[in-house]
Amino acid sequence: MTAHAPGSINPADLKALEPVKASTPDEVRAAVATARTAQANWVALPLATRADAMRALGQAVLAKADELAKVMSMETGRSVVECKASELTSLVPYIETAIVVAKEALAPSKVRLSMLDFPGKKGVTEAVPRGVIGIIAPWNYPLGNFWKSLFPALLSGNGVVLKPSEHTPRTGAFLAGLCAEVMPKGLVGLVQGAGEVGQALVDTADAIVFTGSVPSGKRVAARAAERLIPTSLELGGKDAALVLADCDLDRTAIGVAQWAMHNCGQNCAAIERVYVEEAIADRFVATLSKVVSKLRVSTGDNESDLGPLQNAAQLAIVEKHVEQAKAKGAKVTAGGARVGPGLGFQATVLDHCSDDMDVVRDETFGPVIAVVRVKDAEDGLKRANDSRYGLNGSVWTTNIERGAALVRRMEVGVGYVNNHGFAGILADVPWTGVKETGPGVAASTHSYGVFTRPRTVIIDSGKQPDAWWIPANAELTQFVDALIARGRGGGLGVLLKLGGLVKKRAAAIRELAR
Ligand code: NAD
Repeated sequence: MTAHAPGSINPADLKALEPVKASTPDEVRAAVATARTAQANWVALPLATRADAMRALGQAVLAKADELAKVMSMETGRSVVECKASELTSLVPYIETAIVVAKEALAPSKVRLSMLDFPGKKGVTEAVPRGVIGIIAPWNYPLGNFWKSLFPALLSGNGVVLKPSEHTPRTGAFLAGLCAEVMPKGLVGLVQGAGEVGQALVDTADAIVFTGSVPSGKRVAARAAERLIPTSLELGGKDAALVLADCDLDRTAIGVAQWAMHNCGQNCAAIERVYVEEAIADRFVATLSKVVSKLRVSTGDNESDLGPLQNAAQLAIVEKHVEQAKAKGAKVTAGGARVGPGLGFQATVLDHCSDDMDVVRDETFGPVIAVVRVKDAEDGLKRANDSRYGLNGSVWTTNIERGAALVRRMEVGVGYVNNHGFAGILADVPWTGVKETGPGVAASTHSYGVFTRPRTVIIDSGKQPDAWWIPANAELTQFVDALIARGRGGGLGVLLKLGGLVKKRAAAIRELAR
């Protein structure tokens, strides 16, 4: 296949797209500087005003839903309907929940100061925005990967610079244009280009939210560590589904196909491995293969259930994984071949997969389900956890209690019984994982560490010096001993003694200045 520059073709039909110019390092620095200037006024606005701006952005996006989905469709090859369904339909409820989350995450908390130990003092811990957040995104959900960080970053009072993937630059530019329409000039900047432009952003921004592959995430982490800036790293996945013999077989087969094939499997939380109990394996594979065989791939001009692969490198990985699995003994029970004039690949099921196959060990990020037959649930759980990744996981069973217990033993950030993957569109669920999926947390109050830093302000009424200040004298010794006696359970007598000593010490301390 001819090598195309990233983002230069429609992957469904290989038609050429208008090129998009990459930003220079100077342009990256300028975008961050402009966002920093705009942020100074933005942070002074009340949260309610910033929240209204998020609502306005939501409305601006939906007003242009047709146009925006067409751009997205052109860059990803997915149908317009699929682009709207997966990235726009839940936007308004997402924003409303993100606002509720922001109120909770940004609420100041009172410092607990006892009257006896810290007389005359009060304190508060506040969430202070980091400044300018660089958001570096992959191509698989060219809007969705921004939603999860853009709203909390702005609601916290930060400026933002967006770095869309070089594979989907036009959708990112469209979003930045809408931000400019409803928000202060320069508050949300845009830079375009590949890894080196992302790197320039890491070199300039005050914090980075990175979503992408494990190797790039490690590079970002190392570079950010040099600058001691915080990062949130949301990286790859290889999600497992554990299918038990007592499951509702038809619903499970359809549910697994849904969450394996959504966005052509180009989903960090796609089900890529299915561990099915041997007792139902034949029937389950037959039903799953029947469902998957019916899925139609977009060829640019047809009604489709899934798009093509977004780029040739991704298609090459899919083909390599399938070929290697076949060579090692896996059986293709659905799909298995390329389709259409573009980068399409049929929705595929591979049965009799084993733990040593790439399709079981490495992220495929394509429309391929690897079925591993297991002795029982314990065997399946052990093999599901034997992975470098850990984003989402699921157990499929009619015994809900058993499913809930098993899913808690899966090494993942989000677990489900009888479903998968959809928590990614919930603004109050921490989207996170373990192992090489990375330590990042998207959404929920748990994500705010990258957007804000805690600042504590303590006010002392200044009426008297504290009892433990200089100088040391006999009363200080008594004071210290009384504190220790209190710690050991001393009663009212000790407390009264402490009260008296605090006063005496204050007088003695003031003598120092005479
Ligand atoms: P990628 O790592 O190639 O690129 C992601 C982004 O990082 C792009 O914008 C790219 O230009 C930029 N980039 C690359 N190298 C960089 C560097 N050294 N410094 C700064 N920026 C750099 O990943 P991809 O192929 O675009 O995306 C697919 C991956 O993303 C998959 O592994 C998928 O699982 C993962 N992903 C994870 C989540 C999650 O929430 N955990 C969500 C979506 C996608």
